[in-house]
Parts: sequence; structure tokens; C-alpha cells
Amino acid sequence: MSSSSVMQKIVALSKRRGFVFQASELYGGLNGFWDYGPLGVLLKNNIRDAWWRAMVLSPPIGPDGNPLSIVGLDTAIIQHPQTWVASGHAQGFSDPMVDCHESKGRYRADQLVVFDVPAEKGGEKITLRIAAVAADDAEESVLKRAQKLARAAGGRPAKVDKLDPPVVYTALNAEEQKIVYGPDASAPGTLTEPRQFNLMFESYAGALKDESNKVYLRPETAQGIFLDFKNVLDSSRVKVPFGIAQIGKSFRNEVNPRNFVFRSREFEQMEMEFFCSPEDSRKWYEFWVQARLDWWLGLGVKKESLKIRHHDADELAFYSTATADIEYAYPFTAPDYGELEGVAHRGAYDLTQHQNHSKTKLEYFDQEKNLRYIPHVIEPAAGLTRALLVLLCEAYTFDEKRASPEILNLHPKMAPIKAGIFPLVDKDGMPETAHALYMDLRKKYVCQYDAKQAIGKRYARMDEAGTPYCVTVDGETAKDQTVTVRDRTTGNQERVSLDAVPRFLAERLDS
Ligand code: ATP
Repeated sequence: MSSSSVMQKIVALSKRRGFVFQASELYGGLNGFWDYGPLGVLLKNNIRDAWWRAMVLSPPIGPDGNPLSIVGLDTAIIQHPQTWVASGHAQGFSDPMVDCHESKGRYRADQLVVFDVPAEKGGEKITLRIAAVAADDAEESVLKRAQKLARAAGGRPAKVDKLDPPVVYTALNAEEQKIVYGPDASAPGTLTEPRQFNLMFESYAGALKDESNKVYLRPETAQGIFLDFKNVLDSSRVKVPFGIAQIGKSFRNEVNPRNFVFRSREFEQMEMEFFCSPEDSRKWYEFWVQARLDWWLGLGVKKESLKIRHHDADELAFYSTATADIEYAYPFTAPDYGELEGVAHRGAYDLTQHQNHSKTKLEYFDQEKNLRYIPHVIEPAAGLTRALLVLLCEAYTFDEKRASPEILNLHPKMAPIKAGIFPLVDKDGMPETAHALYMDLRKKYVCQYDAKQAIGKRYARMDEAGTPYCVTVDGETAKDQTVTVRDRTTGNQERVSLDAVPRFLAERLDS
């Protein structure tokens, strides 16, 4: 199956089974916004809880054999506007944009690719430079458009199946940019020069809609942590090295929201700022890159689906000495990888900036060394909603040999529903026994009782929802007090005694 059809199937299953819906679908949808349905919110909460447990409730063991110290926080989405001046977002958090005079479309300049398409006019060879938004099918769509555009220009397209690789729009000089056909334009030269466009959503706090009341929806959760650094230090007994973690919504007015929930305008992040001494910072950076990679593997993401990409020197923010992205092989990036999490060595940049802008000391006093300094920060920053997409992509399996071929092989701990509990038929005492088992199991696990339809259909529904186990009470149960437990991944069934079902699940789901 091609990558784009895999993605289409994942999007369709997400909607059909209630993982993800387009937000405001009733009104035609709102680009870049998504709703998480009944199964989606369970899956998202499982990822969120696993991260919180691995960071705050039971943080990793450090190099000295002791657990690290990490505390949690939940800061406001709207903070003082100076926050974003100090962090650099007010000035620098922008993408180069290109507008089209004709279509009124707006595109990210670095995501526009330009193809040279050969054509003929009056017996002479000409070249049409046609732009498209970078995507798998960009070349295909350019070849299609070229037919029309060449005729409109009074010529005809040359016969070609394959074009030369495209160049990024920003790599062209101003003169060359002037003759490009925009992605939705019928004539060349309708694109503006690239201009910066700030990605922060604006609003107003208070009754007056004037500049003094302007506020921003946070574009990342991290800055709230830096603003509370001193509060946490003064109110908790933390000592450097320690971390502060937070999970919450972030907002970015992305120019091209795309690839399902991968790039949304409203999304959730899981971020942790780890404060350490400057001398130890490199060691902690390396520690966190490895620890974060291990965490993703523990959620059932295969090793070969993940890659660590170390940023080149010219890619690093000026304050960072090292940054690595943990990347995933998404169907829409294949054979390349796309970002899932960034681990950044941020030096003393953020605390220094907030110290200077707020005129409040944000230093740490090390009593043992009798030394005062601004801690350095290592930041693992992951997308929660992007993680949900990764788990869906990773779990999605199409097995033609099975009666219902679509299966979500989610890690049992991540699965929204842990077990389906069924009576084989809705009579002969089976529903009573199955329901009693369900009432017992639901105290601990999310389970679903289902007595309707043929058993095969009920299994198929659970396979699509990613439910790892189905327990069926049948005719034998009344005789020997055993039930059938079916494994989603293998389809294998085994007999388990009725009273051993809680232990069966505990062995596979707890720990
Ligand atoms: P990208 O290069 O994909 O725009 P970024 O480098 O700007 O991401 P960070 O600012 O490091 O991203 O944010 C940390 C994490 O937050 C990312 O690794 C990603 O998982 C998530 N994230 C960032 N932007 C979005 C978005 N628009 N939609 C969904 N998740 C996002």
C-alpha cells in the first residue's frame, strides 16, 4: 500500500472509530484544529499519564544511581506579554511567508518548491517555472497544471514523465522569483517576496481592545516554567540538578497546517526544563537524549521507526550548543523522518533573558560550593498530539488474511480499551456471567461489554479500536468455569479460568 493511502486509511479509521474528528466539522471544519473523540481522548490521556509518570511521579534513575528530582507545574496559557519579548518569540517566532496577489493564498516560503517544466511556443523551447507546496504528489500536480498553463501562455507542454528535482522558492533570487507561477495562480509573477509572519495568536485581556491590553496564546509551554523557576525554588526543596515538567495546550498560527494532526494550530506539548550546573550540562544533555529515546521505545515504537538527528552548527539557535531531534518515519515523510520531540541544550539563555527583562535575580545558590549562578537548561520538548499520531501510524496494520483486515496493534498499556467482555450468545446464562466479570474488571481497567452482533464482528470492532484482549463467556463456561481469551495481535485464543482473568490482565497491563 502506498504511503498516502496508508495515511488516508488512518485518517478514515480515526474518524470512523472516534479517535480524531475535524474540529467544527458541522460548519465545514476549521483548518488546523482537531477534536479528540471518545477513543482518541483515552489514548491521548494514556500517553500523557505515561509521560507524567516517567517524568514527575517516578523520574528516571540518574548516573549516581538515585532517582532524579522533577516536579510538576500547570501554568496559565496567557502570560504577561513581556514574557514573549524576553523569550524572543515576539520578535523572532516567525516564518517567511509568500502571498499570492491572484489567489490570495499564503504559503510558507521554505515549503514552496519550484519545478522547471519544459514547453514549446512557436517552435521554440521555453521553460515554465511552476511552484507547489512541498508534498509527495507535488510533481504530479505540477505536471497536470503545466498542460493548462502552457496553453494559456500560447504554447504547448513538452512530453515529459519526470521533471528535474525542484528548488526551494527561497533559493531563487528576486528576479527568478518574479517569473514563478504560484501554486494556485493562472499567470506568472503573482507571488510577493517572502515576508516574516508571526505565529503567535493574539487576543485582548480586559474590556479595552487596545495595544496595552494585547496578550498572546502561548506558542510553547516552556516559558511558563521559566517564569515560575523562582517560585518553585522558594516553595519546594529542590536542589540543582532538578527538573520542572508541564503538559498543556500550545497555539501556533501555522501557515500550512497539514498532515492530519502533525502540524496543527492548537496542539498539546509535554515539556520539561532540567536545570543543572554549566559544567554538568553536556553530560545531562546526552543523558536526556538517550532517556527520551528509550521512553518512546517503551511505548512500543519500533527502533527502526525512530532516528536521532543532531542539529548541524548552522541550524542551532545562537544560545544552544547542542540540539537533537527524535524523529519518526511518518507515512507522509517516508522515506525521510519528521520531528517528534526536540531535546535542546538551551544554556542559561531563558533565565538570563527573564532576569534582565523582569529585573529580578534568577540565580541559584549552591550551598556546598558557595557559588551563585544561573543554571543551564536541558529541554526535552515533545508533542502530545503528535505522539498520538505516531502511535496510530505505528499501530496501524492491514492484514488481508484476517476477516477484518484493519488492526491497531497498540501497546497494551496505551490501548484505550483494555478488554472487550462478551457473552458468545445473548442467552443461556452467558450474559449474566459476562456482565458480572465486566462489573469486576471495570473497577481497574477500561473495558467494554458487548452482547450484540456476531462474535467475529465484535472481535473486528475491538481490533480496530486497538483493544489487546477479548474475553468471551461461552457454553463451556457454565460447565468448567473457563472463558476464551483472544489476543488481538495474533488472533490466538486460549482457555483461561474465569477467576484467573483479573490476574491474566494484571500480568500484561500492570507493572
Ligand atoms: P517543527 O519543526 O515541526 O515546526 P518545532 O521545532 O518548532 O517543530 P518545538 O518548538 O521544538 O517544535 O516544539 C516541540 C514539539 O512540539 C515538537 O517536537 C512537536 O512534537 C510539537 N509541535 C510543535 N509544533 C507543532 C504543531 N504545529 N502541531 C503539533 N505539534 C507541534
